[in-house]
Amino acid sequence: MAKTAYIGIGSNLGDKLENCLEAIELIRGIPEGVLLARSNFYRTEPVGVKGQDWYVNGVISLKTVISAQDLLQCLQGIEERMGRVRRSKWGPRTIDLDILLFGQDIINDEDLEIPHPFMHLRRFVLVPMVQLAPDLVHPVLGKTMFQLLEDSSHKGQTVMEMGGR
Ligand code: AMP
Repeated sequence: MAKTAYIGIGSNLGDKLENCLEAIELIRGIPEGVLLARSNFYRTEPVGVKGQDWYVNGVISLKTVISAQDLLQCLQGIEERMGRVRRSKWGPRTIDLDILLFGQDIINDEDLEIPHPFMHLRRFVLVPMVQLAPDLVHPVLGKTMFQLLEDSSHKGQTVMEMGGR
């Protein structure tokens, strides 16, 4: 049965917007996936490790019949192909692709947690999620994306919409 996955996209190295757009083109090439929608892109303050460059973040929705595990493999293949450089946890990266939601599935595998465990705390995820699906309910917390954004802390989490593309 086809499910709608929400995928978080982020970059803070090189031409960040171009990296995000390239990743989306590669995600479009995933067999048995149909890109449904793309949020705007946002310039966002780094969360976690301070002193690194700001990120560009966005979210896409993808309709697919492949499993969440297979989707993770595909996304990790794209990260590798794009030469992701990661020197430390939460440090700079060419491209970061996270599965935020996969239908209403709840998955707690060793290498895959869905909903993404931090999505409800991160404004760089929630702002684009609200643009795409404000009424979508978080399957664990039982709140809509809009409610989660209202609840989220602004502290150290500036999110600025970018113009263009
Ligand atoms: P990161 O450095 O944030 O990209 O984390 C990558 C690791 O997170 C990989 O080893 C994945 O197996 C794991 N992971 C767990 N849950 C998820 C998820 N929902 N989406 C993407 N990666 C995940």
